[in-house]
Amino acid sequence: MNFTVIGGGPAGCLSAILLARRGYSVEVFERRGDPRTTPAEAGRSINLALAARGIRALREAGVFNDIADLMVTMRGRMLHEPDGGELFSRYGQRDDEVIYSISRAALTQRLIEAARRLPGVRLHFNTPCTGLADNGDVLLREAHSDRPFTHAAERIIGADGGGSALRHALAERGHFTVREDRLDHDYKELVIPLREGQPQLAMDALHIWPRGGFMLIALPNADGSFTATLFLPRSGNPSFDTLRNAAAIREFFAREFPQAIELIPDLTAQFLAHPQGLLATVHCPRWREDERITLIGDAAHAIVPFHGQGMNCAFEDCRILDELLTADTSTAFARFEHTRKPDTEAIAAISLENYGEMRDTVLDHRFQVQKELAMTLERRHPQRFIPRYAMVMFHDRIPYAIAQQRGAVQQHILDALVPEHAPDNFTPDLHRADQLIAERLDPISA
Ligand SMILES: Cc1cc2nc3c(=O)[nH]c(=O)nc-3n(C[C@H](O)[C@H](O)[C@H](O)COP(=O)(O)OP(=O)(O)OC[C@H]3O[C@@H](n4cnc5c(N)ncnc54)[C@H](O)[C@@H]3O)c2cc1C
Repeated sequence: MNFTVIGGGPAGCLSAILLARRGYSVEVFERRGDPRTTPAEAGRSINLALAARGIRALREAGVFNDIADLMVTMRGRMLHEPDGGELFSRYGQRDDEVIYSISRAALTQRLIEAARRLPGVRLHFNTPCTGLADNGDVLLREAHSDRPFTHAAERIIGADGGGSALRHALAERGHFTVREDRLDHDYKELVIPLREGQPQLAMDALHIWPRGGFMLIALPNADGSFTATLFLPRSGNPSFDTLRNAAAIREFFAREFPQAIELIPDLTAQFLAHPQGLLATVHCPRWREDERITLIGDAAHAIVPFHGQGMNCAFEDCRILDELLTADTSTAFARFEHTRKPDTEAIAAISLENYGEMRDTVLDHRFQVQKELAMTLERRHPQRFIPRYAMVMFHDRIPYAIAQQRGAVQQHILDALVPEHAPDNFTPDLHRADQLIAERLDPISA
């Protein structure tokens, strides 16, 4: 059996690797040039947070060791308060409860190299998919010559990202409507360079400057630089619409993020030169056409990036689809769609919710008291109470939908235990906590 994969991004490459390891022949068609020879697009999601689900999929595909040296450990959030104060908050309580920053371009290059080493994989760059022919063949175009051609494929995996051409073609053929919910906040990336050869911020943290309606974040790169991302409304005040000239940009950063002016000497030039990216959640009612075509990753279910799970979720898709194909190739796509959809809907909702948490509530006293309490409760009841952040980021066997359900129950418990205006010396009633947990949370095998 042969497979055609549309898109040579993280999901397309990992999927091709997994399929080739099962002995299938795989052709990958990628719109862009070979990333090993084509420079990455400036200002587009330069680094990403890699967590347990992504790591498990990379391990099971046998490529974890190919990328491990690219990972930069992040142990927690460094919150930069409006008054210049800093507050470090650990992500988890065990030493291994960390996440990793990784360069998107370097990761993709390594995956492409790993795919290329496998017999059975053929990679075609500069070859965008433009749709599907009436008989189901893939329509492609050679970008250099503009020559259109068709490709007959037995089975097709659409991993062509949030704007997926294959998804549009499937929707047209299947007469279904895809909802793309664009967030009214956009993003822009800025590079924080080294100063005198040294990193300017603590390397083992994800830095956040929460400002209520918007925020700046920064993730470390392996060379000691950081990639900062500003998330801000598109219109209104303040918004990207009001930041169209150097004076307005300088005034905005001086008021909201004065530290950024020190960290980024060419801030205004970068701001004006880098693209303004959009963020959206894709709700696609169907991911497949029979057992011939399926969508995976962002093509099926793009989400907003506030839990750092889009790529992790895409990698988990690849792992789960591989397991299903191994069990029974004739029903794998149907079972993938059926079993995976509740989980991708859950992580889409959790990711949206997390924006409010990152830009706003992280600085609340009640939030911090609840976070400490959640860690205490996890130590007391490790089989029953696992903070939602930990279920999503550090566990690779708890489905997202379960993390969402249990997370909601746990939040009710925390709300019942910590009053809205808890005093500084607040001591939670742990006896009551034990009772609520025993009543409302069954043990979980994680
Ligand atoms: C600002 C930002 C920050 C993020 N941070 C994180 C994070 O910290 N952690 C995390 O896990 N995720 C993060 N994400 C999400 C993550 O980037 C995506 O979920 C992930 O890249 C999805 O992988 P994919 O392979 O499905 O799609 P993509 O990465 O979009 O790859 C799709 C590939 O298909 C190619 N392609 C597109 N159209 C065609 C076509 N017509 N024909 C052929 N090829 C085509 C593209 O060139 C690309 O190579 C972030 C996203 C953004 C925007």
